[in-house]
Formats: sequence, C-alpha cells, structure tokens
Amino acid sequence: MSSTPESSRLAVIAIGGNSLIADSRAPEVVHQWDAVRETARNIADMVEAGWTVVVTHGNGPQVGFILRRNELAAREVHPTPLDLIVADTQGSIGFMLQQTLNNEFFQRQLDRQCITLVTQVEVAADDPAFANPTKPIGSFLAEAQARAFEQEGWQVVEDAGRGWRRVVASPEPLAIVEERAIRQAVQMGWIVVAVGGGGIPVIRNTKGELRSVYAVIDKDRASSLLAARIDANLLLISTGVEKVALNYGHPNQIWLDELTVAEAERYMAAGHFAPGSMKPKIEACVRFLKQSRQTEATAIITDPSHLGQALQGKTGTRMVRPHP
Ligand code: ADP
Ligand code: MG
Repeated sequence: MSSTPESSRLAVIAIGGNSLIADSRAPEVVHQWDAVRETARNIADMVEAGWTVVVTHGNGPQVGFILRRNELAAREVHPTPLDLIVADTQGSIGFMLQQTLNNEFFQRQLDRQCITLVTQVEVAADDPAFANPTKPIGSFLAEAQARAFEQEGWQVVEDAGRGWRRVVASPEPLAIVEERAIRQAVQMGWIVVAVGGGGIPVIRNTKGELRSVYAVIDKDRASSLLAARIDANLLLISTGVEKVALNYGHPNQIWLDELTVAEAERYMAAGHFAPGSMKPKIEACVRFLKQSRQTEATAIITDPSHLGQALQGKTGTRMVRPHP
C-alpha cells in the first residue's frame, strides 16, 4: 500500500444513522447495504480526489433493533449488555463500510484499503451526565413494560406523550483509547473506520483497568474529539439535511452557507438548533475548530448526496474560525 501523500488532506467524516437506514419503514439489511454502498461511493470520490479519510458513524437504530431482539428472545437466550451491543454494531457497520469501500477502491484501481477499529472512549466516572440520563435508546414501551425494565435497573422516562423509553447517560468523551493506532494507520495510508456509535464508553478503575460503563457517547462529540486529536483538516458531518437553518421548520427559515464560531455560539444560545439532533453537530464543529491545531481547519454539515459539491464550496453549511 502506498503511504499517504504529503499533500493529502485528512478528513473525519461522521455518517449519521439516517445515511445507513435511508427509510425507517424499510430497515432490512438488504436496504442497509444499498445505503452503505451509496455512502461508500461518495467517500471513494473524496479519496479519489486525494483526501485521506477516517469514517465515524452512528448506531442508534441498530442498537434499538438489538435491544428489541434481546427482549423477544429473553426466555431462551441471555441478553447482550450495552457495551457488547455497541461493539457488535461497530463490527457490523464497520464491516459493511469496509467491504463496500474496498470494492469501490478496487474498481477505481485506487491503491487504498479500509479497516475497522473497535474503539473505546474514556469518560469521567463523575461526569454529571450519570446523575441525569437523557439519551433515549430502544423502542417505545407501554408503561407496564417500562416499569418492568425499571425493576431490572434501567432508567425510563415518559417521552412527550409518545410512550415510555429507556434512557442512558451521555457523558463527555475525554480520550480515545485507540487514538495512537488510528493515527498510525492513517499515516500509513489506511482508510479507517473508528469510534462507531461514539465509541464504547469506558472508565479507568482504581486498579488502572478499563471497564465499560452503562452509557452511550454522542457520535458527533466523539468525532469532533477524534478530528482534533489526529489533526484533521476537515470535519465533515453527513446527515439528513443539505444545510443548517435558522428558524428551522418555520416560515422564516433561513439556510446558512457559512458561519463563524462566534455566530454559531450566538445562534446556539438563541435556541436555533434542536438538542439531540442539530445542536450536538454544531457543538461538535465549534469544538473541533477551537481545539484544532490546524490553522485552516474547516467543518462542513451537509447530506450524503451533496458531499462532493459541499467540498467544492457549492453547498452545505461551512464553518470556519473567525478571521483574526
Ligand atoms: P444523524 O442521524 O445524522 O445524527 P439527526 O436526526 O440526529 O441526524 O440530526 C439531523 C437532523 O436535525 C436534520 O435532519 C433535521 O431534521 C434536524 N434539525 C434540527 N434543527 C435543525 C436546523 N436548525 N437546521 C437543520 N436541520 C435541523
Ligand atoms: Mg443524531
């Protein structure tokens, strides 16, 4: 394998759950393959254009399906704990990206290969998020079912009149345990899939051992940390909208082409970006731009079909550092 050319620019691409399950009414694996193939074509275009790429991805719907399978099979088979579920989805989604990307590289005669790294991410045992779990996981439940899960140690909440859901804490990612391996693989020219589902959350116990904690890490936050740590030039967040909007969904909606860190912070404070969907993405971009050691770091938010055009500055929402 040829090594990364000196001039090659490094991008972290965060793939949203919606890029992997295009239609929530047709989530079957055959359709997941179609969606992943489409994503792989877009990523291969970037690699062909000279980018080195680290791919991160969400896993919310996939975790929900596995939890549901656990429930249905509970009388016969032991349930899978959450840390293993995240590891399972890192493996399965990583495998799909790996196979489809490698097929693209082969067909385009690009001397690149993709590998997947099971990734753990350290969080703080005393992160305040543990006292206030907010991240819903799995399917909607009837109250009686929810109470039964509560007996098993889950925390449950009533979700805006739509039913009950299990919730887990979403602590801050502090360090990526496999960071050095990712960095070295990138330097050697590998296209790496990492921090899937935000990474498997771990804490270091008093004996110095890593242990999983019952939580999920926001994949946009983990992607931002990774991008800053490996000195990426670009954080590219691929999601369900071509651009970010002010007054999203309202008649006075305004699509944004470019925004500075200061503007983003101001709009965030004014409540323009929905918590749990667009807000973590804007936060991720802001943090990346603030933490990055790259002088010309850029963050872009767009949807899968506009990745190429967004890279050429023709669409998407581009975020840059304020000019000094
Ligand atoms: P992902 O699976 O990629 O993480 P999410 O559904 O969590 O995607 O978040 C992206 C979604 O956030 C968009 O598809 C859009 O529906 C919604 N959204 C909320 N606020 C905004 C906004 N201000 N501008 C654009 N989209 C927004
Ligand atoms: Mg999301």
